[in-house]
Amino acid sequence: MAEPKKKTSHSRVRKRRSHQALKEIQYTFCSNCGKPVLPHRACLSCGFYKERKVFEIKVGSKAKKKVKKKKEKAGAENKKT
Ligand SMILES: [Zn+2]
Repeated sequence: MAEPKKKTSHSRVRKRRSHQALKEIQYTFCSNCGKPVLPHRACLSCGFYKERKVFEIKVGSKAKKKVKKKKEKAGAENKKT
């Protein structure tokens, strides 16, 4: 099996890893609602992109189901105690 000819020194390892640090997330603020948004992405809380509405936010089935489930769980727990 192929083996490295020489041991990689601590210095060399650290130099290599100096580029692996995570960068801070770059974001801007929505022109409509002012919430932080990733650049070149539509706002997820109001559906605006470049000052016009791109999509509707559904206050929909999934969110309602989640709330219902939570309420049911809480209700069940209350009954037990
Ligand atoms: Zn927005």
